[in-house]
Amino acid sequence: MIVKTFCARMDHGGCGLLVEVENGKIVRVKGDPDCSLNRGTICAKGLAQIERLQHPERLRHPLRRTGAKGGGQWERISWDEALALLAEKFRERISRGEGKSMAFAQGTPKGLELYLMIRLANVLKIPHIVTPGSICHMPRETASLITCGFFPVPDYDHPPALVLAWGSNLFQTNEEGVIGFQLRRALDRGAKLVTIDPRKTALASRSVLWLQPKPGSDLALALGMLKVIVEEKIYDPDFVKKWTVGFEELEKELKDYSLRNLAEATWVPEQKIREAALLYAQTKPACIQWGNALEHTTDSVQNARALLILKAITGNLDTPGGNVNRSGPPVMRPGDFVCSRNFPEKREMLLGPEFRLAAQMGFTPSQLVVKAILSDVPQPIRMMYVQGGNPLLSYANAQETFQALKKLDFLAVAEIFMTPTAQLADLVLPTATNFEFDDIGHYGLPHGFILARPKVVDPPEECWPDLKILNELGKKLGQENFFWPDLRSCLDDVLKPAGITYEELKSKGMLRGKWTYRGYEGKGFGTPSKKVELYSSRFQEWGYDPLPSWRGEKSATGDLQEGGSELILTSAKDPNYFHSAYRNLPSLRRLSPDPEVLVHPDTAEKLGVREGNWVFIETGLGKIRQKAVFDRDLHPRVIVGAYGWWFPERKDLDLSGWKESNINILTNNDPPYDPAIGSTNLRAIPCRLYKE
Ligand code: SF4
Repeated sequence: MIVKTFCARMDHGGCGLLVEVENGKIVRVKGDPDCSLNRGTICAKGLAQIERLQHPERLRHPLRRTGAKGGGQWERISWDEALALLAEKFRERISRGEGKSMAFAQGTPKGLELYLMIRLANVLKIPHIVTPGSICHMPRETASLITCGFFPVPDYDHPPALVLAWGSNLFQTNEEGVIGFQLRRALDRGAKLVTIDPRKTALASRSVLWLQPKPGSDLALALGMLKVIVEEKIYDPDFVKKWTVGFEELEKELKDYSLRNLAEATWVPEQKIREAALLYAQTKPACIQWGNALEHTTDSVQNARALLILKAITGNLDTPGGNVNRSGPPVMRPGDFVCSRNFPEKREMLLGPEFRLAAQMGFTPSQLVVKAILSDVPQPIRMMYVQGGNPLLSYANAQETFQALKKLDFLAVAEIFMTPTAQLADLVLPTATNFEFDDIGHYGLPHGFILARPKVVDPPEECWPDLKILNELGKKLGQENFFWPDLRSCLDDVLKPAGITYEELKSKGMLRGKWTYRGYEGKGFGTPSKKVELYSSRFQEWGYDPLPSWRGEKSATGDLQEGGSELILTSAKDPNYFHSAYRNLPSLRRLSPDPEVLVHPDTAEKLGVREGNWVFIETGLGKIRQKAVFDRDLHPRVIVGAYGWWFPERKDLDLSGWKESNINILTNNDPPYDPAIGSTNLRAIPCRLYKE
């Protein structure tokens, strides 16, 4: 039997797949040539899904801790016991009016599970939802909503005449639902490519122009390009006049910068900044493929705002081949799914109300929860439920995160494998993964479609989908009115406004919204002024910069200070893994066996390091070991560390080696943060490197 579905859980997902099943087991996975998103292409992670499903070390039963935290002693319990224990822990605190002392945490969302988790939290009036949102997607999404009222996605179908890839490495890591194949096809159809990246990635190698900025200087670079475009009057005057507010203020602000200073700040020569600006503004249509790296600095929201202004003033917003507004199908609104109306007082109870964009989206930047657990300020947090996430590897300042997780009175982790974070838990819940339950992909994402991800095989032994755990827990806590008799009824309810059932979605595969161009011509942009707000009056009102402004680099307490370091550490995701996941899948581990730090050979020579040597990387917060690999195209002052490393096979190391090579041992979670959303600096860290 061959089942058509879509990939998920190996990254943001979306590749159409043909999954072959024999005797209740998946025996082959291949790309679906009929799927418009990937046309049969599939990556190594996609192929490794069978190994993940059938891995001997999958968690298969609920486990309760019996020894010391992190000591590795567990007893197997039944689901009845696990749910009763969880419900008792929630009930205890709720009955004492201590909803604020609990937090839910999620790693990257893959389907509906994040929304169901927020629904449970809202029903129980638990305000803290901890997600990587402040360093992943949300700076761009919230900046977009403030600036133009929608999240503009590249229109590769038209196709564009030029793509400006900025902090995105789409050939190797997909960008929240946009698959590299779509860009490749646009390039094959003749689009020019300009790439901005400190590394000479595969994209950079294929570009007509590659700009290699100093890590963390994106805002200065974007302002440099804006300065050229505005001062050389190569913007779209009609669009600017009719559809933007604040152009005069922008012009004035840009006058205050000299291109020479911006070039110095970014390490990109003036001439190259000019060339990129001319290419982007004068090649029509052009789209920007922005990447998650832009969100890893304390300028994350303004980085996104600056790129949105570039899109708008060049007339590339919501135009064919530019960055467009893709309305989704009319399914249940995420706000209704999460029952936001049930908890109107949530916003006043959040830990960081000053981060208004995070507060508006209802999540808490992770470092605020870590610090609240440790200090009890502004309020104590004593219990956490983590779903599909590995905070010990993914939150900035891993040592502090470790102390915080250890201090909790109760930690429950729902996972596929025994991660370092799960090893610290009091209760571990074995979850089913994609192919093992019915789910909907791309729900709540701004790409204009949703995907049916039907169950293909049964999950092993006692593994439950996250959705089922949350649904059953909700009912156990007496909230039957908000939860469903079974998951199929939940999925049908989500689809009801679109007039279809899950069974019907399964036969369609993908459900698209109504896609149009220049929707603003009828009703204006979704902002207070109905125009693109180059100058944001809301930001001014809230005390943030109403225009993107470059104020130079910022350092946090504990950073190595000037003179203490000659090197700048940035990091990159490994295309063979997803964040900290899948180091235990043999076919992927063969492709990327070790954590590798990229170093320029001249730098390595000065430091007495040979290629293949294990080296220490050290910042003001600690040191880790990674293996030196030479990269002649890097700036000699920049090193690129590997992210997400632990060693599932090393049972001899504390929590499977959570601190050996974990780049978040080196990152700082102290202020300054992005003022609007709370992002920490993960991409421009002063460091030292030396031979082990
Ligand atoms: S690119 Fe992502 S969605 Fe496509 S097969 Fe690979 S892991 Fe799956």
